[in-house]
Amino acid sequence: MVNKSLSILYSCILVFFVCGHLEAINSRPLVIILLGAPASGKGTQAAFLKEKLQIPALSTGELLRENRNNKTKLGLEAEQYIDKGQLVPDEMILGMLFERLNEKDTQKGYILDGFPRTLGQAEAYSAKVGSSVELLVINIDAPDSLLFERIKGRAQKEQRSDDTPAILEERLKNYRLQTAPLVEYYRSQHLLYQINGAEDAAKISSQIMAIIQDKQRALASSSP
Ligand code: AMP
Repeated sequence: MVNKSLSILYSCILVFFVCGHLEAINSRPLVIILLGAPASGKGTQAAFLKEKLQIPALSTGELLRENRNNKTKLGLEAEQYIDKGQLVPDEMILGMLFERLNEKDTQKGYILDGFPRTLGQAEAYSAKVGSSVELLVINIDAPDSLLFERIKGRAQKEQRSDDTPAILEERLKNYRLQTAPLVEYYRSQHLLYQINGAEDAAKISSQIMAIIQDKQRALASSSP
């Protein structure tokens, strides 16, 4: 009981400290990019960070599913790619995401879950935001066997049309071809942090929070 209260108190202090720092030191909004294969745990961590940091979590997969459910032109065009385990073309993703970024709630920073997924998307995003944001990229790395295991569980719970072993195989192939090169792309810009996705979710969350704190400390010590 005492331990639990202490841990809640500690979390509150941590959030207060991190959020305070986000605004006080860093006038540029923090953008956290979550990279990782399908079912690597990006969505879980995005939800955690959204709550902790009180900034929106933007998932291009989720935005596409909303469009699909609402039967918009974009949603109907995108579904043929999604159901084959292929990536939706860059122009469609960029238009959809950039429109979302115009909303006011993104001004204090946001989390990107599942974007960018190609070099073209990463470059277009970077050209759009320029140096107006502080980027931090987290790559959640997990072995294929674990991804398949998780997809099986998720398919039963969420009933996603693309959560089948055959489509996952295709999504993983496309991930390796088109998305994995982003790890090097961001590493070469010194923006990348690696996380072991085989750890349990709570441990990953605390590792990500520690990375964010370190980043804020580094920014604080380098600011004039
Ligand atoms: P997710 O929910 O992130 O696993 O995305 C589900 C599906 O939506 C992916 O398998 C792709 O077909 C599509 N998708 C989501 N985000 C992107 C993106 N950034 N670029 C291209 N396709 C995407």
